[in-house]
Amino acid sequence: MAKHALQGSNINLVKLHNLQVVLQHLLYEPNLSRVQLAQRTDLSNTTITNLISELLEQGIVSEVENGEESEGRLRPVGRPRTSIHLEPSARFAVGMHIGVGSFTVAVTNLLDEMLINRVEPFDINAPSSQVIKKMAATIKAMIAESGVERNKILGIGIGASGLVEVATGINLLAPNLNWHDVPLRDYFQNQLHLPVFVDNNVRAMAVGETYFGLGRGVDSLAFVYGRVGVGAGLILRGQPFRGSISGAGEIGHTVMLLEGGEPCRCGNSGCLETLVSESAILRSADGIASQNPEGILDAIMRNRQDLVPIGRVFEAGRQGDQEVRRMLSERAYYLGVALAGLVNLFNPEMIILGGIFSSGEEYFLDTVRQVTSKMAFGRMGERVRICSTGFGWDASVLGAAALALMNFFYQQDQVKP
Ligand SMILES: [Zn+2]
Repeated sequence: MAKHALQGSNINLVKLHNLQVVLQHLLYEPNLSRVQLAQRTDLSNTTITNLISELLEQGIVSEVENGEESEGRLRPVGRPRTSIHLEPSARFAVGMHIGVGSFTVAVTNLLDEMLINRVEPFDINAPSSQVIKKMAATIKAMIAESGVERNKILGIGIGASGLVEVATGINLLAPNLNWHDVPLRDYFQNQLHLPVFVDNNVRAMAVGETYFGLGRGVDSLAFVYGRVGVGAGLILRGQPFRGSISGAGEIGHTVMLLEGGEPCRCGNSGCLETLVSESAILRSADGIASQNPEGILDAIMRNRQDLVPIGRVFEAGRQGDQEVRRMLSERAYYLGVALAGLVNLFNPEMIILGGIFSSGEEYFLDTVRQVTSKMAFGRMGERVRICSTGFGWDASVLGAAALALMNFFYQQDQVKP
């Protein structure tokens, strides 16, 4: 049978499917009345009433008397008497973002709002078994610290570095950590006795934006992240698009310079990553600082220890270092060229920039918009909405938690009726 053929469904799954349809509508549009829900979902009023009573019983939704909200004033004509909204504290999720040399754990509520979080360093040369042991201990401690009831935790979402086999939760390859075939899902499920969902960390950020961020309800989007590496998480029809071996979105290894580019860790040279990653920009900034020992950048590099290194480069541009501004503008141009290619291939409705492209958005956003608009074919570049993440650096850990939350809102086959 063809892999994409539809599967049959039994009656319990139909009910579960309808529950999830209702939950999704409430996620994207809070405070709907039963009548509005029936209209939006094409379900009968009776079906909606039955589904809502079940969700009320489970504490997943609450009902608001609209009269109460307007503090004694008369309810406006035509406004429904009551409306339904998701109860943020009905369920919780744990998210863990695995970075290079540090990992972040957060506990969030049903709407992916952060309750607590913690960043822990780890030695990238340590064996993976030692690192994941520390991760499990941190997750345990964070769950205890959050005070959240364990039976209300939907699961643990893990945004891993590099290639992930989603079906098994195995981190096949994380070159920056020298990890091969690390069985993340099985390990954490055995240690923590909660469902575990693993995906690539940038794809997780795309999921977070699609359900809880700027991309709410958007049909197709790309989340483009730059830090140690450069990658894109792609969403198609509201779901992550992973490609045949989960490698879709590796735009960091698009060759931008056919000649004279710097060698890339992938084996090629002149890749996008060698131009716009954090380390590529820092290398270039070091060159500028050493050539201009009395320059603005050099002074900031020496005196602004309060800023992270890339923050010092951005600050030098802000204070008017022309060499820095020129370098950043050139790097933003290359990013724009690569994103024009992404637009031609994928034609997304929205592109969200994250990582250093977001923390340095004053250097990246406008240039990327202009270049993409000019270079992408036809009107595709003008139509795509390009913005910077609203989550800042939290996009990574909120995205990881969103993997567990997505399962609750979307994956009917994994939730027991
Ligand atoms: Zn490369």
